[in-house]
Amino acid sequence: MTLEELDKKYVLQTYARDYTNFTHGTGSTLYDENGKDYIDFASGIGVNSVGHGNEKLANAVCEQAKKIIHISNLQVIEPQAKLAQKISELYGEDVGVFFSNSGAEANEGAIKLARKYGEIKFDKKRYKIITLENSFHGRTLATVKATGQDSFHPSCFAPYIEGFSCIQSLKDIENAIDDETVAVMIELIKGEGGVAELPHDEVEHLAKVLKEKDILLIVDEVQTGVFRSGEFLVSQVYGIKPDIITLAKGLGGGVPIGAVVTPHKDIFVAGDHGSTFGGNYLSTAAGNATLDILENIKKDGQLDATIVYFEEKLKEVIKANQDKFDSITGIGFMRGLKAKNSDIQIKTIKQVMKEGVIVLKSGNNTVRFLPSLTITKDEINEGFARLNKALENI
Ligand SMILES: *Cc1c(COP(=O)(O)O)cnc(C)c1O
Repeated sequence: MTLEELDKKYVLQTYARDYTNFTHGTGSTLYDENGKDYIDFASGIGVNSVGHGNEKLANAVCEQAKKIIHISNLQVIEPQAKLAQKISELYGEDVGVFFSNSGAEANEGAIKLARKYGEIKFDKKRYKIITLENSFHGRTLATVKATGQDSFHPSCFAPYIEGFSCIQSLKDIENAIDDETVAVMIELIKGEGGVAELPHDEVEHLAKVLKEKDILLIVDEVQTGVFRSGEFLVSQVYGIKPDIITLAKGLGGGVPIGAVVTPHKDIFVAGDHGSTFGGNYLSTAAGNATLDILENIKKDGQLDATIVYFEEKLKEVIKANQDKFDSITGIGFMRGLKAKNSDIQIKTIKQVMKEGVIVLKSGNNTVRFLPSLTITKDEINEGFARLNKALENI
């Protein structure tokens, strides 16, 4: 059996899969079984924040695995406490952290926290959560309902969780609030919804209104967080202080981990929430090593410099391909090239892959770039040389 046959026979076919068999990688270069190399501008989907084969991360995971991989959360876990402290320092506020294994689970935790807040802080219970159209918050039954895209709510999975209402634009949120609204949950840059940035002034205004009404602002930073925007949180770029933020993708450099981060430290008590694996030795050791690496490249200026360099390259692509692309979207290392139509989007992704560059789809017309944050200028040069060559054939 070929690998493709094996996969198709034994793995449930929930993904429209590509069958390139990658065997290893270093930095932002991946190698397939035939030795062909690819420049990785996707890093999973914004997960491999410190690149492939990162020695510092690999050593941290390896050293931890030799000591203890896991005990239960009924025991104190040293790397977990240290990672929570580190996240709090980077956040710049006195916050508490709950660790999960994924982004959807982090959002589930945020939703539970908000609902409990709505129960204990008000005479009349508040439980409704307002979300935005074209958002993405995960695949569990609650987070899929929070996701503002009808294609994610087919009747086959009904009934869905109640208490979510999806609003078309940020401006309409204020009007949609009623006396049962407990929270608003948003992505500041929609990762799956076209790398679309919310307007800064509208976000600032909304944050102010919500604070006045004692309604929680939940910012889903599963994709935007952990330095992807150039800052630890994209909320910091916007200058807002949400009540709850969620993290996941880049936090463990590829080892599964998610986090709920909040200044409301008195809401959850023992027994309210939990996870068997969440925040165990292995994942939090990976998280600590990942944040160490990222904090260093932020401090020494490497991250900011490569972000600027990457943006210059995207501008050159737009300039040379005005027949194909409209604009650059996103910030930091979360970027989109908005194509004229979905046909150009799909052809670009396919053709670029043939030339040995991995990019992603977002929405129905955007080519998405989520490179590792440690990508080098040489890798960027090589990736864009290949990308430009691919574009000549479209
Ligand atoms: C990926 C993503 C999620 C879901 O994370 P999983 O780890 O796949 O559960 C949720 N929200 C946003 C913004 C994401 O990008």
